[in-house]
Amino acid sequence: MTPDLECKGLTKRFGDFTAVDDVSFSVPAGSFFSILGPSGCGKTTIMRMIAGFQDPTSGDIEIKGKSVLNAPPNKRPVNMVFQHLALFPMMNIADNIGYGLRRKKLPKDQIARKVDEALDRIGLPGIGNRKVDELSGGQKQRVAIARCMVMEPDVLLLDEPLGALDLKLREHMKIELKALQTAFDTTFIYITHDQSEALVMSDQIAVMNEGRFEQTGTGRDLYYRPDSAFVAAFVGESNRWRGKIERVQGNEMEMRTDTGMLMRGATHGRSLSAGDSADIFVRPEAIRVTRDATELEQFDNRITGRVTSLLFNGAASRILVRDATANEEIEVNLPQSGEYASLARGDEVHIGWSGAQGNCFPVGAD
Ligand code: ATP
Repeated sequence: MTPDLECKGLTKRFGDFTAVDDVSFSVPAGSFFSILGPSGCGKTTIMRMIAGFQDPTSGDIEIKGKSVLNAPPNKRPVNMVFQHLALFPMMNIADNIGYGLRRKKLPKDQIARKVDEALDRIGLPGIGNRKVDELSGGQKQRVAIARCMVMEPDVLLLDEPLGALDLKLREHMKIELKALQTAFDTTFIYITHDQSEALVMSDQIAVMNEGRFEQTGTGRDLYYRPDSAFVAAFVGESNRWRGKIERVQGNEMEMRTDTGMLMRGATHGRSLSAGDSADIFVRPEAIRVTRDATELEQFDNRITGRVTSLLFNGAASRILVRDATANEEIEVNLPQSGEYASLARGDEVHIGWSGAQGNCFPVGAD
């Protein structure tokens, strides 16, 4: 099936600076695709090229199999939702949603029907006569999307649309946006620097760094099988240690961290040998904590230390454990069972994890 959007070798240079560097990707029809990356990595520049506000230096952009490079923004089958929604405050909601249709000179009764349908789809039937400032932030967000969707774009571009909302509403809107995308059955291209937004909503996520796509995959792929140290560090939380490899055998490796700890980990087929500098990543949830060292015998990484901090965050609470010999803090998920809920600063604990959970990358790979 022809993808809804395909970018081929997309490159944008501003003078000597390459903001987008030979990026290729393809987005299947009806999917939610996110571009996730730190500020300045080139996300908005990609969106602006797709929308037609900026010309690529080289490469091509196809929508439903046809190049759109020669089409001006208003002739491209795309629409864009910005962080600052720019709803027209002097118009009521129905007039806001119908704005583009009036410019296209559609008959009035057709506009009214399409606006009503869109209000139904966003779960706000009957609010057409209200003013913009009578709506909550989340409702305005939905109206902004409805205003784009009545134009029936093949692809909807969303540039950090939740950035201006408060945390609680942002959490809610993540679920809502995914539901709206399914309801409209339209391809959404979403850019964000917030990994939790991307992980919750997306079918596919491209992690972007300095103008390039580092890795594209599902949230699970990126979280559990990062291809680079950059992705391992950017997606989810991890303990990260740098050190020198002492031994490699098949997929297993042993390294001495710069602080003196011996770590066993996995190379996952990466080219690593004894003497190389490497980074090892271990997720806090991969580490088991106990007061009884004999419970950790099955693990090939074991440390005894003291709790230095309790980071309460409901079900996602963590503790920091300091290894006295290496003077190193390790972040560990706190199990919710009674015994651990009573841990206090200064308590002695034993922590352990299996070498397979230590993901190792050559230094210089991010
Ligand atoms: P943010 O999340 O902060 O919006 P971004 O990933 O969207 O960042 P872009 O806006 O695409 O980043 O910018 C990528 C790089 O290109 C930045 O270093 C920016 O300064 C540069 N850049 C963008 N537009 C121009 C321009 N018109 N002229 C020169 N440099 C530009």
